[in-house]
Amino acid sequence: MRIAETVTFGGSGLNRAAELRGDAARQQALWREGRVLTLWRGKPLIAGGSAIAWLASDAPLSGMAETSIFLGFSDDTPVFAQDVSHWVPEQTLAAQAGFFDTQIQTHPDLPPDQGFQDLRAVMTDLSPRDAELAATARGLIEWHRSHGFCASCGARSQMTNAGWQCRCPACAASHFPRTDPVVIMLITHGNRLLLGRGPTWPEGMYSLLAGFMEPGETVEAAVRREVYEESGIRVGQVGYLASQPWPFPASLMIGCRGAALTDAITIDPEELADARWVTREDMVSVYAGNHPVVKPGRLGAIARFLIDAWLADTLD
Ligand SMILES: [Zn+2]
Repeated sequence: MRIAETVTFGGSGLNRAAELRGDAARQQALWREGRVLTLWRGKPLIAGGSAIAWLASDAPLSGMAETSIFLGFSDDTPVFAQDVSHWVPEQTLAAQAGFFDTQIQTHPDLPPDQGFQDLRAVMTDLSPRDAELAATARGLIEWHRSHGFCASCGARSQMTNAGWQCRCPACAASHFPRTDPVVIMLITHGNRLLLGRGPTWPEGMYSLLAGFMEPGETVEAAVRREVYEESGIRVGQVGYLASQPWPFPASLMIGCRGAALTDAITIDPEELADARWVTREDMVSVYAGNHPVVKPGRLGAIARFLIDAWLADTLD
C-alpha cells in the first residue's frame, strides 16, 4: 500500500539514535541541550491543541536525566520524554466516560494555552513528527508504569538504557518495552465490506473486525481465526496493507485485507452486537450522514484510514 505510512502515528522517520542510549555521559550532555515532552497520567502536554508543548530541560517541571527517556533527535535537537504523573492538581477534573477524554488539564506554572490532553483527542491535528514522538513517549511511559517489577522474580526493576530497558537488580534479568500485535482487517466479498460493532460501543459506531494475535500464530492465521470467531465468515487470501502504533496502552495495529469465502454472518454475542456487509454505495451514504444505521468511523484510527482507501480505490 503506497500510502501506508500516511496513517496517523504512521512514522516520520525519527532518528532514534539507539546507539547513544547506553552512553550515560553523553545522555547527560544531550539532556542539558534537549527539549522535553512531558506527560501527566498518560496525557502529553499540548500547545494550542495541535502541537507538542516542549519544555527546556532546566524548566521547573523538568526532572532529571536519569529518570527521563531519550527519544532521539528531531531536527538535530535531542528530545526526551518525562512523566510527571506524581503532580496533583488543586482541582482534579472528574473522570469522563467514553472512548477518550476531551478535558484539558492546565498547570499553574505553564501558559494558559498549554495543557495535558488525551492523545486521541489531538492525534489528527499533530504533525507526523509530533504524533510519532507522542506515541513513542506514551507507549514507553505506560510500559514503565505497568512493569515496575521484574516479571521473573518480582523485585523492583530499574530503568536503564535511557528508558528503553529495565534491569532487575536482584536476578539480573533484562526486560524490554512490549508491543502487543493486533490484527485489524478489511474483509471484502465482491463489492461489500464487513463491518461490526462491539456490545458497549456508542450507537451507530461500526468498525473493521480486529483482535489480538496469539502466540504461535501468523498474521494471516490470526486474521482468519478472528473473523471466523466473531462473524462465522471464512476468509481465504490475506494480505498486509498498513500498520499503526496504537499506544493505548501498547498495541501495534496490523492492517490487513482478506477475501471472504463465505458471506453468511453468525456473530459471537460476547464479541459483537452486530456485523453486516456494507456496499460501496452504502458507505458513500454513511459518509454523507444519510445511512440509517452506520455512522462514519473516527478520524485517525487505522480502520477509518483503510475504509477510506477502500472507498477511494487506493489500497494498492
Ligand atoms: Zn528479577
